[in-house]
Amino acid sequence: MLRYPKDLLTLIAHLKKLPGVGKKTAERYAFHLLEWDGKDLHEFAEGLATLKERVQSCAECGCLMDGVRCIFCDQEKRDCSIMCIIASPRDAYAIEETGDFRGMYHVLGALLSPLDGKTPESLNLSQLENRIQALDIQEVILALDSTLEGDATSLFLKEQLAKSGIEVSRLALGLPLGSSLDFVDEGTLSQAFSGRQKF
Ligand SMILES: [Zn+2]
Repeated sequence: MLRYPKDLLTLIAHLKKLPGVGKKTAERYAFHLLEWDGKDLHEFAEGLATLKERVQSCAECGCLMDGVRCIFCDQEKRDCSIMCIIASPRDAYAIEETGDFRGMYHVLGALLSPLDGKTPESLNLSQLENRIQALDIQEVILALDSTLEGDATSLFLKEQLAKSGIEVSRLALGLPLGSSLDFVDEGTLSQAFSGRQKF
């Protein structure tokens, strides 16, 4: 059987790592890239190569930033008494779009999933406790996926936070069961926010 040139195979192998991209799609993308002109390919490659250096995570909250200052940690523009705990930096953008929340964020970086080796140590927790104290947070909103992992993580955090005596609420049940925050439309997410319940 004839094989693709080695570099094309490598490219296909990388593309296959993307979510929802199987062998056939990866091959189609690779051949499509071959048709791009050199300048575009260079720009694309350069952007990829420096992506991690240019887009950094805020050392405080874990959200993404492209400058020296994190817009999500701007204490003059945001409410420091309330904090929303999210799994991924991407969730902050979905929540900002609803316009219902102007507090602080804290990115966990993962959800509890013991079978995949995601234990409490995988979550960005020590920083969380420090921030809650330093900012004098009065309410924490758990905005995690409505999945098995999301529920387990919410319960775990509720127990952890109970010691500190702050109010803990959770997004309302408007969120469809089994849904991940990135797939929920703005209206539903907005409703889930305003209807959040004590947890
Ligand atoms: Zn930040």
